[in-house]
Amino acid sequence: MTKEVNGGCKCGLVRYKGARLDAPMFRCHCRDCQQLTGTGHSEMVPLELSTFVISEDVRTYQMTGGSGRPTYSGFCPVCGAQMTRRSDRMSDRIYVHASSLDEPRLYVPEKSIYGHEAQPWDVASVIEET
Ligand SMILES: [Zn+2]
Ligand SMILES: [Zn+2]
Repeated sequence: MTKEVNGGCKCGLVRYKGARLDAPMFRCHCRDCQQLTGTGHSEMVPLELSTFVISEDVRTYQMTGGSGRPTYSGFCPVCGAQMTRRSDRMSDRIYVHASSLDEPRLYVPEKSIYGHEAQPWDVASVIEET
């Protein structure tokens, strides 16, 4: 994937850009991701938080993450599309949802996290550790 990425929401109100962090892209099967995305898992791309810029229109939903620390979900107040996830535990990075990228084909999932929380109808998407 290219170093610089751009993306945004479905309706076009919220746009973002940032640089890829040198860390794996991953699939998350946790219950938060299930409830927030309305699907079995999320597809996450880590970016460098220091390079990340997003339209001020974005809204943020705060919750308690699996680590027990605050976690934030960024979404569009008009179309509801989710774009970002960030945790106080990992202060150098912000994750963007692969499908919010302008070029989502560039995403390649490298691993799964919270695979044990995958729903029975979604276990086939869990990437087993090799
Ligand atoms: Zn929108
Ligand atoms: Zn998750």
